[in-house]
Amino acid sequence: MQYEEVIAKQWDVAVIGGGPGGMGAALYASRADLATVVIEQAFVGGLIALTQDVENYPAVELVRGMELASRMEEQVKKFGTEIIYKEMSRLDKAPDGSFVLSLGDGKQLSARSVVIASGSAPRRIPAKGEAEFYGRGVSYCATCDGAFFRNKAIAVVGGGESAFQEGHFLAQFGKTVTLIHRREGFRATPLAVRRARALPNWSEKLNVVVEEIYGEQQVLGLRLKHVRTGELEDFPVDGVFGFIGYEPASGFAKHIVATDPEGYIVTDRRMRTNVPGIWAAGDIVEGALKQMVISAGAGATAAIDIREWLVSKHG
Ligand code: NAP
Repeated sequence: MQYEEVIAKQWDVAVIGGGPGGMGAALYASRADLATVVIEQAFVGGLIALTQDVENYPAVELVRGMELASRMEEQVKKFGTEIIYKEMSRLDKAPDGSFVLSLGDGKQLSARSVVIASGSAPRRIPAKGEAEFYGRGVSYCATCDGAFFRNKAIAVVGGGESAFQEGHFLAQFGKTVTLIHRREGFRATPLAVRRARALPNWSEKLNVVVEEIYGEQQVLGLRLKHVRTGELEDFPVDGVFGFIGYEPASGFAKHIVATDPEGYIVTDRRMRTNVPGIWAAGDIVEGALKQMVISAGAGATAAIDIREWLVSKHG
């Protein structure tokens, strides 16, 4: 379909975001014969596309995240979902009760219902020099940038599942991988911790935070601050990967739907927001467990509920 046609059409369902939540919604909506469009700002799959290995989706033993993302795309397209690659700038309600989706290029889409599945973006390391060296040794994507650090000293910041799993992946490239974490306890599963600690080039620096990322053209090291003593230490590295959590991407919708103080969208068990006609699914939802299987299920729940809602409203 040409972009002009996508803009001109009245959609039954507009899904904002092409991660597992959005793809689950699109799959169920398009299979229910609802005219479905997905608005994705970067690439289908969301954070899954940036994940090296996925091994916790039922019936899928082990698959590359990127491969899973492209399978999702093919599958929804097969059932008629249209995907456009545009940034969302604002979501509004039209006087006739439908929704207006304003896009980054100034164009607008119209839909009878909306699923917000815009997910979350990596939280940036709050250290001096982070912005300066972003893309020059500072990264938030091991799959994308890991190979640039072959035989180099890599630091991974964080103590959650992402830090351990992505750190493990980076260890195949790096001469050394050092996990830097602000305390001694981890949010990561014991399995992920055990697997990482079994690597010969793995080490950890605990109870420290990154005060500064310094370098010249590229990162040369980190200034670490001990959280208890305040002591500063220079730690030379070639690259630093941040996995310190995520921030919700709900800026375009905060004025219209209820969110928690952090910006995550509040829903009920059918993934309805406080605005009839708007659902949310995936990591953008308050309290979401941030697992692909759960996001996909939430998207499917939303689509099933939308179908019932549209039928009761329009027949
Ligand atoms: P997370 O669980 O929120 O962990 C973030 C880590 O970063 C924590 O250790 C936190 O320290 C640390 N941190 C936060 N802000 C910081 C700051 N300003 N400075 C220094 N450290 C900071 O994030 P995640 O690891 O990305 O995981 C997010 C969700 O995705 C989780 O629910 C996780 O289970 C899920 N996930 C699942 C898989 C999988 O199943 N395969 C893979 C990846 C992620 P504190 O612990 O001290 O707060």
